[in-house]
Parts: sequence; structure tokens; C-alpha cells
Amino acid sequence: MTNRDIIRVMKRELMDILVCPVCKGELHLTVEEENEGEIVSGSLHCGKCKVDYPIVDTIPDLLPPDQRH
Ligand SMILES: [Zn+2]
Repeated sequence: MTNRDIIRVMKRELMDILVCPVCKGELHLTVEEENEGEIVSGSLHCGKCKVDYPIVDTIPDLLPPDQRH
């Protein structure tokens, strides 16, 4: 199962199962806006890859940077 199958809406408890799509390492959550346990906007950061994955309108964009359009 991939990140994309799991995630429709970003929630704090998803941090337990989310991993970096590139290195499968741990992600660090930064919350800018939260609503009833859902992360509305913020970012997921991989310290190993030094990449930020944005969360926009509760949807985390976990595409590897080289696959973004
Ligand atoms: Zn990584």
C-alpha cells in the first residue's frame, strides 16, 4: 500500500504510518492551520532528503520532488 492509497484527508494520527516516498524515512509535521484534528495546511518535512511536502486544503502532496509537475 502506498501513501496515496491511505490519504484522503491529512490527520495527526496518520503521522504513525506516513513515510517519505523517497527514502521511506520519518516525516516531521509542521501545522499552519488545523481544524478538528484535520491538518488544513502545513507541511511534511524529511530531514534525510531535506524536502518539504506541502499540505494544501487537507491533502498532503507526497509526490517525490522529481515527479511534480
Ligand atoms: Zn526522505
